[in-house]
Amino acid sequence: MKKSKPILQDGFGREHTYLRISLIERCNLRCSYCMPEEGVQLTPRSHLMTYEEIYTIAKTFVDHGVTKIRLTGGEPLIRKDIPVILEKLASLPVELSITSNAVIIDRFIDTFRANGLHNINVSLDSLHRDKFKEITRRDNFQKVYDNILLLVDEGFNVKLNAVLMKGFNDNEIIDFIRLTKELPISIRFIEFMPFDGNKWNMEKMVSYKEVMEKVREAFSEKEIIRLKDAPNDTSKNYTIEGYKGSFAVISSVTNPFCDSCNRLRLTANGQLKNCLFSASESDLLTNLRAGKSIEPVIKKAVEAKLKIRGGMDTLEKLQEPKLHGQNRSMITIGG
Ligand code: SAM
Ligand code: SF4
Repeated sequence: MKKSKPILQDGFGREHTYLRISLIERCNLRCSYCMPEEGVQLTPRSHLMTYEEIYTIAKTFVDHGVTKIRLTGGEPLIRKDIPVILEKLASLPVELSITSNAVIIDRFIDTFRANGLHNINVSLDSLHRDKFKEITRRDNFQKVYDNILLLVDEGFNVKLNAVLMKGFNDNEIIDFIRLTKELPISIRFIEFMPFDGNKWNMEKMVSYKEVMEKVREAFSEKEIIRLKDAPNDTSKNYTIEGYKGSFAVISSVTNPFCDSCNRLRLTANGQLKNCLFSASESDLLTNLRAGKSIEPVIKKAVEAKLKIRGGMDTLEKLQEPKLHGQNRSMITIGG
């Protein structure tokens, strides 16, 4: 008898083992590339997943092969029941990680330890207080920077995410890399991506190629060491000879890594997105609340996953506001 296809395998044979769960649509920062200036229409609280629902949905994915769960948002740490969520998810056989802006992360060191959470991605787009304030619309630079040092001191595996924007922070690429001389962290430069309301245009984006040109101007070929990327890694990883940390470029725009994509996303209101760039969503929460099995919905959503960037397979399509504007703002997807 023919064995049925695993429900987390898509039509291109990609196995999905990594689930990103957005816990909240709200945030204590207002990054302009993530949240439209006028804010976003928030989902009423009763339509957001409770911690029990998060656990039930996550367990279904784990039962079908998910081995990694990343919590994100909005800002996941401003959700009041985050300790309970972490505790529940830590009881599953998965590697847990979190992406945070780190403004209040110092309050969670013990909670992370108690739940075996070791991998933390922190967003930081500038090493200057005034520019941090300009992009996030909040004056929290020092708090975030001190918290990054605290996480490193406490032995966490820290990655720093910096979204690069031309004329704003592309002159800080080398300063960010120099931070890794003494700090054992990985800086990840992210190509600015288009989402609803974030005023994206191709000219603002700094490409992988442009990052590497700046790196080659500052360091010799001998000093720049290409590292082996982990399987399903979305980044191209490098280090500078003698440096404790590393850096990487996440080139979703100019060099998408869709071939090896193993990610699925669950929004805070219980919608499954089969791709970050896809405007279509599958409603797991309503089915769960109606007492129905969510497995058929998951299977159908995974099967429907398109080959490249939710169908925006060329740069021309990606630049088309009619296409990327149908998607949510990043703050309500969960990066
Ligand atoms: N609040 C947390 C934080 O900032 O780390 C988690 C949520 S945030 C949406 C997750 C990641 O998405 C951040 O690293 C952020 O820089 C990234 N992001 C948001 N909008 C983006 C965009 N337009 N292009 C590229 N990355 C983006
Ligand atoms: Fe908040 Fe993170 Fe979006 Fe900035 S990138 S507004 S910190 S969710």
